[in-house]
Amino acid sequence: MEERMQEVRLRHHHLLCTMTFSGHGYDRGFVANMEEVVARLRSPDGQWVRLEASCDALCAACPNAAEGMCRDHRSVLRKDRSAALFLGLPERAVLEAAPLIRSVEDRMRSLTDIRQVCGDCQWAELCNEWLRGRRSLEG
Ligand code: SF4
Ligand code: SF4
Repeated sequence: MEERMQEVRLRHHHLLCTMTFSGHGYDRGFVANMEEVVARLRSPDGQWVRLEASCDALCAACPNAAEGMCRDHRSVLRKDRSAALFLGLPERAVLEAAPLIRSVEDRMRSLTDIRQVCGDCQWAELCNEWLRGRRSLEG
């Protein structure tokens, strides 16, 4: 039971979004929920991630979700497939969060433009700022 409580359900492309998150989102409820999920992933010891390309812990508080489905269903599925390919992850899995997050960080070092994975996304410029900021920190 305890293990289930430590599980975060995520769709693949949200592994990228939670990494680049800088406090922006669709509305206050979405941002507050995202902050909670991101805080868990940024202290990942003891946490597990249930990966699946369907509505997840972030979609749960998103105004774009209705009846358990994203209104941009096709577009987000494309992002999930692209992220899974980029990150070398299976369609479905339950994975220990700490090594998963480290491997996402490592893979993101190869990116100069988030659109290479995410395609057209309204938040891409913010995510690219995050990529640029991290590159400048790493010298
Ligand atoms: S560009 Fe969009 S989908 Fe990609 S990480 Fe940023 S917010 Fe997520
Ligand atoms: S419902 Fe759609 S837009 Fe909202 S977080 Fe989920 S995938 Fe993203």
